[in-house]
Amino acid sequence: MFPGQLYKTESGRLFHAGAIAIILVGLPARGKTAISRSLYRYLRWLGVQSKVFSVGNYRRQIIGVELTNDFFSPANKATADMRLKIANACLDDMVQWFSQGGQVGILDGSNTTAERRQELVERFKACNVQPMFIETICDNPAIVDANIRSVKVSSPDYVGWDRTDAVNDFKRRIANHEPFYTTISDLSLSFVKVINAGERIMVNNAQGFLQSKIVYYLTNLHISPRTIYFARNGVSLNENSYKADAPLAPGGHRYAENLKNFLLTLRENTATSSPTSSSTPETQRPLTVWTSSRKRSFQTAAHFLDHEEIIVRQRSVLAERNPGVCDQMTPEEIEEQYPDEILRAKADPYRHRFPRAESYYDLANRLEMVILELEREKNDVLIVAHESVLRCLYGYLNGLPESEIPSLEIPEGVLLELTPTAYTTEERRHKIPDSVASVNWQQQTANLMCLAGNVPASPMYMGQYMPEGGKQIRHESSTYFSSSTSSPSSSTPGLSIAPS
Ligand code: ATP
Repeated sequence: MFPGQLYKTESGRLFHAGAIAIILVGLPARGKTAISRSLYRYLRWLGVQSKVFSVGNYRRQIIGVELTNDFFSPANKATADMRLKIANACLDDMVQWFSQGGQVGILDGSNTTAERRQELVERFKACNVQPMFIETICDNPAIVDANIRSVKVSSPDYVGWDRTDAVNDFKRRIANHEPFYTTISDLSLSFVKVINAGERIMVNNAQGFLQSKIVYYLTNLHISPRTIYFARNGVSLNENSYKADAPLAPGGHRYAENLKNFLLTLRENTATSSPTSSSTPETQRPLTVWTSSRKRSFQTAAHFLDHEEIIVRQRSVLAERNPGVCDQMTPEEIEEQYPDEILRAKADPYRHRFPRAESYYDLANRLEMVILELEREKNDVLIVAHESVLRCLYGYLNGLPESEIPSLEIPEGVLLELTPTAYTTEERRHKIPDSVASVNWQQQTANLMCLAGNVPASPMYMGQYMPEGGKQIRHESSTYFSSSTSSPSSSTPGLSIAPS
């Protein structure tokens, strides 16, 4: 049996060889949902069939949100049956999903007792799914308090509540769990303990390639606030050739200068308008610029070198997708010479590769280290790169399906300001003043190679004009599970990863 292979059990059900059940463990407000969501994005990015099963969403779906902290208390015998029923409904759907070929399922619940964890181990092992626990431990009251105030009181459980009452109710919910919570001590289990939001990580018995990747990913996560900016590179002297690797045209240098001035002013304005800025203006996070070693990217980023405090880092992996044989060809020439390839590209724009070219999938693989570094980075980062690279990184940060990545619009002349939050990435788009989009057929060729026109881009992404002050975008996947949507088992992945 090879990892990735499907096999049938005696009962005739299909399971994925090497399937893993990630089981979250921890008291409320310890970041279980945040970790589940990040991990899901990463696994999806790796092309792993994954899904989050959130016990909190099942509870909201089955009995609604009109509950106070005593419902959740493990000491409350009157609600014990109902709580178990809800947790098992979620578990049953997860097992069912594995039987349909699911590869990594993530069980987002508290699972705070050793007995419950043992039940889960037995249930998953019975269907040849390897359990792996992620326990998030936090004994820093400041982190827990910030988590409650920043996220928990705005959950659907507290709609219409007075804020102070909601904070107090949630604290009681935690206190009710505490006497029944035991940390994982069974060393025969595979587990990772994430302590105080990544201050320390303990790993036990992690097995195999995917589990090691998951562990490494977790070691990169942190909860410090930061901003990620995306900007396209300026226009070069030869826009139609990848091989030429031409330097920036004068218009490209003008754009780079405008980009720099615009971004620095934007950051200054943000710092002075932030509530803490008057007392601590120096707390603005440093800015690092990442760029590729392609001339037009690096020369765009090099304008920031005027500022000693800004570090510019060149990374060859940030180079654009190699167009292979399509380099220097017009769209008409490609259609004429490679009609079959065009059909294949239409069928699978993300994975199709023209002769000697890279697919988006290849590019995404090449960018994996960048993604891990982006997770680890605590400075603000500006990434200056080609549209293909920015599409992939944007797709990762927003947990978008791979089919959407080749047709995302990241226009020239626009600065994207992305702020990762607990469950989602918030976005503003700003028009960079006086920037003119280049007119070139390399762009059209690139679009043809991934058939960008194939999937209609959302009107939000269309065009060059953005209103003053930027346009704010929130992705669907940031929404909570609503009781008016379909049942949890048939919910879309976007909804299934809503916070618990
Ligand atoms: P509940 O049991 O109520 O569902 P939870 O454990 O799922 O709670 P989250 O909803 O994920 O908690 O809490 C989100 C908050 O946790 C965010 O403020 C996020 O920044 C923070 N967070 C993320 N990762 C961690 C971590 N490893 N340790 C502590 N807090 C974290």
